[in-house]
Amino acid sequence: MVNHHFIIVTFALQGHLNPCLQLAKRLIRMGVQVTIVVSVHGERQISKNFQTPDGLKFATYSDGYDEGLKPRGDRNRFFAETRSNSSQRLREIITTSREEGCPITCLVYNLFFPWLGKVARDCHVRSSVLWIQPATVLHIYYYYFNGYEEVITQKYKDPSWCIELPGLPRLHGRDLPSLLFPSTKNPFNALPLFKEMIETVTDSETTPQILVNTFGSLEPEALKVIEKYNLIAIGPLIPSAFLEKRDPSVSDSDTSFECHLFQKTNDYTEWLNARSESSVVYVSFGSLVNLPKPQMEEIARGLLETHRPFLWVIRAKENGEEDRLSCMEELEQQGKIVPWCSQQEILSHPSLGCFVTHCGWSSTLESLAYGIPVVAFPYFSDQGTNAKMMVDVWKIGVRVSANEEGLVRSDEVKKCIEMVMRNEEGGEELRKNAKKWKDMAREAGKEGGFSDENLKAFVKEIGGN
Ligand code: UDP
Repeated sequence: MVNHHFIIVTFALQGHLNPCLQLAKRLIRMGVQVTIVVSVHGERQISKNFQTPDGLKFATYSDGYDEGLKPRGDRNRFFAETRSNSSQRLREIITTSREEGCPITCLVYNLFFPWLGKVARDCHVRSSVLWIQPATVLHIYYYYFNGYEEVITQKYKDPSWCIELPGLPRLHGRDLPSLLFPSTKNPFNALPLFKEMIETVTDSETTPQILVNTFGSLEPEALKVIEKYNLIAIGPLIPSAFLEKRDPSVSDSDTSFECHLFQKTNDYTEWLNARSESSVVYVSFGSLVNLPKPQMEEIARGLLETHRPFLWVIRAKENGEEDRLSCMEELEQQGKIVPWCSQQEILSHPSLGCFVTHCGWSSTLESLAYGIPVVAFPYFSDQGTNAKMMVDVWKIGVRVSANEEGLVRSDEVKKCIEMVMRNEEGGEELRKNAKKWKDMAREAGKEGGFSDENLKAFVKEIGGN
């Protein structure tokens, strides 16, 4: 029997860290020792609110911004330092683990660190990739760099154009990951990185196994369409303490792997408890999106016009500035605004009726796994693709439309929320579908479910036992 020691390398962003911690939890439950490697700054943020559970350790590399990358920080320098320092540090960690008699048996690297496959090869350590977005998005990147770049870049702005890619639904320009295109919303030119990622996962010499945070029934076609890939569905990587809340056999210690990088409040619990069943609209744009003030004002007015109770997460600005909305008093009378919350606690609350979401992949999986219908309000990156899937494939929500200036007006916000919340405009169907996905997500993710079995088989294969 091999004593497994896995290393997981990731960015310490909320949407990256959450699935990594859940993966670590499942591995530890199988008797694997896990070290998560993040930046120095990331580890500092994590340790503020997180007690490291037994079986888990953290190690760090410097990304050149140990005090944190500010919005005006040099992203080219950040990536250059991340690349060279994480590689160097990984080599040291692998060597030390051998000297200490607890050798690394597998390196699992977030695909946004594609260069680490080479480090593993040089050091003769097994490695596999972790993909924290849907298989569908990985395929779009694959097709883009394998024959479709020209047509996509020429046509994506034309609203009447769409493309059929094998195994994927018909996609319009707004359904494609936005980081493929130049835009003021995109913080850096990600194309070279995506190209390297696709070269890594299709390398015929190494054919790395790709652990994907998805589940079989969610993306059945996408999981098998490209034969060059070796995809293993291991999701949804979501805390089972919330999923299986009403199961008394699930110990509370499961929540010990929930880590918040932002200061969260709990003062919404009583407020939620006092609301009637399925009545609350929850609004959150995740940990990265910063909506412009005019868009925030439109959302605020849309929410007010529904006359429904709402819980809205508005993160504090990084520069500490307060961006007070013009109708703050009315908002606070009708709903609740919090700087950060436990989203999973909220989505699992019986008073939840609808989730207005930016469609980050973790939020998407959470809405599916908690059976909450959505108003899809994508902003950038993979969010447009996730919105497309939620609305047209999984049929659990409606998507907002923006006007010519890219602004989603208050009447559109109100209309979409009403479509989800009411029975007569198809809302009932959306709720029924959401409930169906909730059952399927739990079936896949529970102990002994398909995804859990896939992960067990993967660990067994790594160790040869
Ligand atoms: N989240 C949370 N509290 C909040 C807002 C978000 O716990 O107030 C969590 C949410 O449950 C999800 C993660 O933050 O797991 C955000 O990841 P996602 O991929 O949805 O979006 P990103 O932040 O990467 O854009």
